[in-house]
Amino acid sequence: MLRQVAEGVLVHESEFIQSNAVVVQGKAGVLLVDAGVTAEEMVAIADDLRTSGWPVVAGFSTHPHWDHLLWHAELGDAPRYGTARCAAEIRAFLSDAHWQDHIVEDLPPDIDVPLDLLGLITGLPAGATQVPWDGPKVRIIEHQAHASGHTALLIEESGVLVAGDMLSDVLIPMLDSSAADPIEDYLAALRLLEDVAGDVDVVIPGHGSVGGADQLRARIDQDRAYVRALRDDRVVSDPRIGPSAKEGWEWVSDVHAGQLGQLAKK
Ligand SMILES: [Zn+2]
Repeated sequence: MLRQVAEGVLVHESEFIQSNAVVVQGKAGVLLVDAGVTAEEMVAIADDLRTSGWPVVAGFSTHPHWDHLLWHAELGDAPRYGTARCAAEIRAFLSDAHWQDHIVEDLPPDIDVPLDLLGLITGLPAGATQVPWDGPKVRIIEHQAHASGHTALLIEESGVLVAGDMLSDVLIPMLDSSAADPIEDYLAALRLLEDVAGDVDVVIPGHGSVGGADQLRARIDQDRAYVRALRDDRVVSDPRIGPSAKEGWEWVSDVHAGQLGQLAKK
């Protein structure tokens, strides 16, 4: 169920768009980042952890999109965190009486996604640089890309970068269309990740395949090339869209077309 990708770090890949849940081993239990999507897989993760004798002592959401904010009662009631901006964003979302309907519209019909514990996170103080928990240091690298309050996490001791919804081998950079300058924001975020690349041996994207250090560099370059092409209004040539897209990921081309439309409006 859980696959070790580095010393003290395990991953579970969801059947839903290759979402990655990340487990970090601490002193008395584990930190669970972006817990998973379906009820079945979150229960399986909980069972796995219970069998290993590792309670979940903290949770974390990389950004305020529903597929990164889920939780299951079987995982226990450890404190769950996100950046201050992430928590503010989800609080506003949950204050809409019809929030569940907005998510259900997005869901494929055949999966069971429990929404009752969605988004119950505590915002860390603005500018927090570390996840508060009793385990290896997990550095918060917050930036403005993809979503308000989006952050990557660097588990320094094991050289693992949890990238949130960036640096994917299957998804193109998805800009935060609500931002004033989503393109420059994205490029700045990539620079922040590049700054720590020398300390990274393993990169875990929110969706897609786990990669090594060479993949990290390649994905930073690939994402930057995509975003620069959008900025300069050049034709985008990217293996994640068009005929070279991975089977089952053809819809990423529609995401790209949608982004071109949004940018044209701006
Ligand atoms: Zn996502």
